[in-house]
Amino acid sequence: MDIIFLPFTDIQQNFYSTESREGLKAMKKQCLEPLLQSIPYLMTRIYAEQHLPMNERNNARHIIEMVKNSFIESMRKKNWIDEPKRELIEKVEQININVGYPDWLMDDKNLENFHINLNYTIQEKRKNDTLTLLQYYSNVQELKMLHLLSQIGERVNKSHFWDPLPLHVGATYDYVGHIISTFIFCLKYFCLHFFKNSQLAIPMGLLQPPFYEDDRPFYLNYASLGSFFGHEMGHSVTPRYSEFDQLLPPWNMNILKDYLFKAQCFVSQYTNYYDKEADLHLDGTRTFEEDMSDLAGIQAAYYAYQEAAKRLAMTNGTNLPGQSSSSMTTQRIQELPEFSIDMLFFISFAQKWCRFSTHVQTRMRISKSVHSPGKYRVNGALSNLDIFAKAFNCPIGSAMNPAKRCESW
Ligand SMILES: [Zn+2]
Repeated sequence: MDIIFLPFTDIQQNFYSTESREGLKAMKKQCLEPLLQSIPYLMTRIYAEQHLPMNERNNARHIIEMVKNSFIESMRKKNWIDEPKRELIEKVEQININVGYPDWLMDDKNLENFHINLNYTIQEKRKNDTLTLLQYYSNVQELKMLHLLSQIGERVNKSHFWDPLPLHVGATYDYVGHIISTFIFCLKYFCLHFFKNSQLAIPMGLLQPPFYEDDRPFYLNYASLGSFFGHEMGHSVTPRYSEFDQLLPPWNMNILKDYLFKAQCFVSQYTNYYDKEADLHLDGTRTFEEDMSDLAGIQAAYYAYQEAAKRLAMTNGTNLPGQSSSSMTTQRIQELPEFSIDMLFFISFAQKWCRFSTHVQTRMRISKSVHSPGKYRVNGALSNLDIFAKAFNCPIGSAMNPAKRCESW
């Protein structure tokens, strides 16, 4: 490692010290990242065995499936954009969901086959030979290339390859699908959320607090992990354009008008937000697609959690702690009497956007990003939900219970 890194460390140190007092990353991280890049599936297997038991993975998958169903149900009930609705629903139904890692990863034979062409062996006497180490990395690249070549002419196996990888460190952006760039704050935990070509992969980075925890009340998981997923569902049904700027089916110009009419409500709502510290108004024309997906996401997660609670009560013959099935939204739970379960659900949703931001960072975000700052992602989406106003008893006409609400899927 020394041979590879030392020539670069001084340059890197100089570079990073200009943007952060921390300077260069710890050696542990420096060593980890090349491994994640070069043998990602082996690293994922080791990590998964220790941190994502199969039952936890299945529970997370169940939440995702419930949110997906809730999202589809919500689409069915909407009476706007009638014409392409069936096609759009079919599109959502066909989305393949991978949770944590690809299924084949836990099969030793599959894992061995995947790496069969990789030569790991470095002779003892040549271990400090730079050329030998470079040869090793060249083998790794070759392996990646072989996999790409092996896919030519084959049908795409949506659950087979992950791109980016389950333990990928870094952010990428894909115009067809979507990478939530605001997830950067959790990238240090190998967090990445990826949606591409009718495939949605939820990496293990998302299956840990504050997004997911297997042994905490399930409604908190629905609010955080579920709403993330619902947000991505929202992206899957927004208008898309070809590289020649033509609308892709099932969208056409007539239907686009209906969509933009709905979108205009979000443009006005978010542009009206003024951030005092940044001394700027938000730009709803740039963020409306994200804002619409935020609302669709939390809405789908909420009704999915309600359905899950009903099923749980039916299965166990009991209700949620301190609740009667007829008043699920208002009952308080014993351990935290000041909060109802609905309130905790919305607090869990809001918590995932909680972070420190300097006024410069906020200014940058408002000026450049397609995402609104976290505070507005929370308040903007929740003020469009009457169920939130009801849960917190917000006065009619107040900021969080306005007379006019925007509607997403
Ligand atoms: Zn998004």
